[in-house]
Parts: sequence; structure tokens; C-alpha cells
Amino acid sequence: MKAPGEGAGARVKLDFSATGKARIIAGTVVGTLFCIAATIFVDSYNFPNLTESELRRALMIDTLLPAGLAVPLLFLLLHKMRQLSIAHRDISIIATTDSLTAVLNRGAFKMLVDAYLEQAVKQPAQAAGAFLVIDADHFKSINDRYGHQCGDDALQLIARSIQSSLRLGDIVGRIGGEEFGVFLPKAGLDQAGIVAERIRAQIREIEFPPATKKHVLSVSVGGVSFGGQTVYDDLFRVADQCLYSAKARGRNRVIFERMAA
Ligand code: GH3
Ligand code: MG
Ligand code: MG
Repeated sequence: MKAPGEGAGARVKLDFSATGKARIIAGTVVGTLFCIAATIFVDSYNFPNLTESELRRALMIDTLLPAGLAVPLLFLLLHKMRQLSIAHRDISIIATTDSLTAVLNRGAFKMLVDAYLEQAVKQPAQAAGAFLVIDADHFKSINDRYGHQCGDDALQLIARSIQSSLRLGDIVGRIGGEEFGVFLPKAGLDQAGIVAERIRAQIREIEFPPATKKHVLSVSVGGVSFGGQTVYDDLFRVADQCLYSAKARGRNRVIFERMAA
């Protein structure tokens, strides 16, 4: 699976190719023309007192001097600003992404869910959705049997499988070692139940270790749907209780609750 760092690196190369360079050159040209125009404008108060040859010389100096200074300075400045903005974006990606599975990390996941729930306070039409907690079953035994590296591979496959079951706009994060959180904005109980069941069933089909299918992976899912104002901690608490019940009833199952209004 592609690590987030690799993705960011690829973007850096792209940005410094055609579009990135074109923007820097365009900025340098526009900035230089502006400097030349400003210099000529300021100097133009002296023009009526100059002879024709003095005027030609003044215009040449007013053009060449700012151009000679502005071109390298603006080019360097714009180049550095672009490097900084790309570095800033890449750092944000790295800071919010789980390095193993490339889904959101716990902090970023909570932040996005919190932001949605806060927005829902202002726009009650958005105050609906569902929250799932997905925990890999007997994961310790996978590490014990196949080794930690293989366990990591299984986590990547599980994360990829979860992502492939979601819509654009759904939020997924790794909220614990072998535990994932999914937030489904505006999904009702039935719709969220279908998604959770699809995730559970799809993970059973994963070939693990890759291309052998020697071991059947499974997850238990606890879920809660809500329609009204709520907060992250309450959603997590109810979903986690459902997850606990799913584990207690034998694992590889989905248990859902509707949040009391
Ligand atoms: P249950 O069905 O009750 O959830 O059993 P479990 O074995 O999955 O749960 P338990 O909490 O006993 O063990 C979780 C295991 O997940 C132990 C830990 O080593 C493993 N784990 C957590 N994070 C990682 C990781 O990043 N990589 C690997 N390979 N294993 C991890
Ligand atoms: Mg587990
Ligand atoms: Mg766990």
C-alpha cells in the first residue's frame, strides 16, 4: 500500500513541473513589469526637463535597473514561497494521516467529526448521521501466528476494504491499534446498517496472507445512528458498547443502536 509520504512526494514533483514553474515565471514577469512601470511613473516628473538623448537614457535605466533587480529577487521569492506552501501542505497531510494505513489518524478523525457535529448545531438539517467502531477480531493471534509485519499488512488490507465501502464525504480514521472509526454524515439507521454489514462481509473475503487465503479475517462492528444534536464522546460511548456486545456474542457481527433523542 502506498504510504502517505510517497503520495506527498509525488505531488511535490508534479507541482514543480509544468504548472508550478509557469506560475513562478508568470508572477516574475508581472511583478517585474509592475516595478518598471512604477519606476517610470516616479521618474516621469523629471522627463519634461530632459533633452531627447537624456530621456532615452533615463528610460533605458528605468527599464533595465528594476528589471535586473526584480527578476532574480521575485523569482527567488516566489520559488521559496511555493516550496513553503507545498511543505506546509505535505506536513499537514503527514500530521493528519495514519502512517501505516493511510486513513486519518485518531486526532484528525475526531477533529473532523467534531467539526461536522458543531456545524450541525447551526444547521439542524445536518444533525443526522451514524458512527461506527470497527475492531479486528482476535488480532493478537494474527501477530502471534504470522508475525508483526504480516499483522501490519492485515491492518492495511482492512483499512483499504473499509475505505472501498464508503461514499465520498464519509470519514474514516484509525482510532486505536486494530480499531477504526467511521462517520457517515446524514446516514439513517438502515443505510448505516447496510454499510456496516458490507464492511463486515467484505473483510471476510480478504485474501490473507495475500494470495493464499489461509486465514479468514473478521471484524466486529458497533454502531450508533443519531438524529439531533450530539457530541463525539457520546457517539463513541454508545458505539463502543455495541462493539462490546458484538464481541460478547461471538464476534464477526454488527450491532447497532439508535441514539435516544
Ligand atoms: P478481540 O477480538 O477481543 O478484539 O481480540 P484482539 O486480539 O483483536 O484484541 P487485543 O486487544 O487482545 O489485541 C489487539 C492486538 O492488536 C494486540 C496488538 O499487538 C495488535 N496491534 C495493535 N496495533 C498494531 C499494529 O499497528 N500492528 C500490528 N501488527 N499489530 C497491532
Ligand atoms: Mg481486536
Ligand atoms: Mg481493539
